Amino acid sequence: MLAYSYIEKGKFALVEKPKPTLIDPTDAIVRVTMSSICSSDIHIKHGSVPRAVPGVTVGHEMVGVVEEVGEDVTNVKAGDRVTVNVETYCGECFFCKNGYVNNCTHPHGGWALGCRIDGGQTEYVRVPLANQGLNIIPDSVTDKQALLVGDVLATGFWAARISEIGEDDTVLIIGAGPTGICTLLCVMLRNPKRIIVCEKSEERRRFVREHYPDVMLVTPEECKTYVMANSDYGGADRVLEVAGSDDTFRLAWECARPNAIVTIVALYDQAQVLPLPEMYGKNLTFKTGGVDGCDCEEVLKLIEAGKLDTTPLITHRFKLSEIEEAYRIFENKLDGVIKVGIEGD
Ligand SMILES: [Zn+2]
Ligand SMILES: [Zn+2]
Repeated sequence: MLAYSYIEKGKFALVEKPKPTLIDPTDAIVRVTMSSICSSDIHIKHGSVPRAVPGVTVGHEMVGVVEEVGEDVTNVKAGDRVTVNVETYCGECFFCKNGYVNNCTHPHGGWALGCRIDGGQTEYVRVPLANQGLNIIPDSVTDKQALLVGDVLATGFWAARISEIGEDDTVLIIGAGPTGICTLLCVMLRNPKRIIVCEKSEERRRFVREHYPDVMLVTPEECKTYVMANSDYGGADRVLEVAGSDDTFRLAWECARPNAIVTIVALYDQAQVLPLPEMYGKNLTFKTGGVDGCDCEEVLKLIEAGKLDTTPLITHRFKLSEIEEAYRIFENKLDGVIKVGIEGD
């Protein structure tokens, strides 16, 4: 089968690999029907994910059909359509029992697929700990509707959950890329008083304006003044930082009112500075990434009920054989791309 693989720093290639087989009794083999590209894949390509193993098949956002399950897999069976979770987790350790599945202590715990073990930009994938990592897609939900459930939508859902958003809150979301928009959709489910989205790209601001006309939009340059003028207590009650630059990190705490919660969803390339003397007296609570992707079943129910729809984000579709082109478009943010869907040939 064809598998898009991390060859070395700066190089991915579509290579021929044998179809995976069951290794552990908790494994499942899934035939991938649609996968996507995430900015974390781009981080691997550029060598900024030290844990990524050269040779590994990349891709950790996918949906598919279960082909075969190990004898201890009880949650799914052959023929089930499933979402695949970005994180593998045991469900039994201290962290899993508390819902902190990103910190699962199992050897495969956390983000393994498409990083430390073969992932989903291919035809078949072996999913370890399949009882936890696979969720059945309701019949009325399409692959395209479910594609982002296991990764960016899980991230948005988690970010909105840990931000403790109430109906009187002014919520600032910094960044309207794929994860930013998924975060926006999940924040909208909590009905805060105001949602302000800060985004530097005119194209992406236009996307938000077209699809979510009730959301207030601002550029990074105008953000601080705008938030001060459009919040009740001198800043946003909740800030979700999804953009991941030095400037946006600073903007996040600057736009927060005293005693606000600042949730850091973004992954930074560099260390960030917390200028504590400047922040003294603001009494902020920071919550930092990454995602605990254990709400996929609830997210699928929300999609089935028509309350969450990420299909407008899948702006482009490619065959697996065209994946180089899909990467070129996604990585360079060409042609208004938000997310791509990769399908089998
Ligand atoms: Zn990802
Ligand atoms: Zn665990």
